[in-house]
Amino acid sequence: MPWKVAIIGSKGRMGTALLSSAEKLGIEIAGAVDQGEDPIPAIENCDAVIDFSFHEATPFIAQIAAEKGKPLTIGTTGHSPDERESILKHTGTIPIVWAGNFSTGVNLLFYLTKKAAEATGADFQPEIIEMHHRHKVDAPSGTAEGLIKAVRQARGTSEKHIQHGRKGITGERPDEQIGVHALRGGSVVGEHTVMLVSDNERIELTHKASDRSIFADGAMKAAEWSQGKEPGLYEMLDVLGLKD
Ligand code: NAD
Repeated sequence: MPWKVAIIGSKGRMGTALLSSAEKLGIEIAGAVDQGEDPIPAIENCDAVIDFSFHEATPFIAQIAAEKGKPLTIGTTGHSPDERESILKHTGTIPIVWAGNFSTGVNLLFYLTKKAAEATGADFQPEIIEMHHRHKVDAPSGTAEGLIKAVRQARGTSEKHIQHGRKGITGERPDEQIGVHALRGGSVVGEHTVMLVSDNERIELTHKASDRSIFADGAMKAAEWSQGKEPGLYEMLDVLGLKD
């Protein structure tokens, strides 16, 4: 079924990727809205709204989407607790898919990491390695944080067992430790590997991103999925049918 999308934040890096994704997938643009433009006509005229703009913008977009009864997909990050609250109150009226990472592959990696860490015991010790371009200013990446969370959920590991890098006389590695290592260099978009290492075998789960189109394509998939869903809060694992 052909459908129409309203893109909020349309002139940004992600907005541009979303416009390309819609064109590639044959999805009609009901409206492309950026700062200083009225989002109401686009939202009125669409089947689903996608917001990749700025944290301060999302509460108003959610309010209009709720008033017009349109499902909303939110990729924007950095909301304050107050902003989060004013967005979440609309989950009683419309479906909202909200994810910090819309890549299908990364969400699958979260799922597979949790399953692999559950299926193996303490003799398979977890090490997480991430690599990003030299301009990245923080470590570990948000995605690595998500992988740490997946291992901790599976193993019940406490925060004090997370080990960021190693240097000097570190002592032997405790079984429950989660080693985390950040590599930086060049123009690498984002790579993450989870290793589960035992004495005689090693599992490695790796995701490599090469283009931000993976987030745009994932958000389009979420926006299509959201149409006709019950009001509520959903995440990318719901869209991919991977929710436990
Ligand atoms: P960007 O700065 O390139 O683009 C943001 C755009 O939003 C700009 O064009 C800006 O003018 C516009 N904008 C600001 N206020 C607005 C308003 N009130 N109404 C409409 N448009 C408004 O940023 P980006 O790299 O495109 O990222 C946008 C957001 O998406 C950020 O919060 C970023 O962290 C997030 N992001 C999420 C994912 C994911 O998978 N969830 C992936 C990449 C980026």
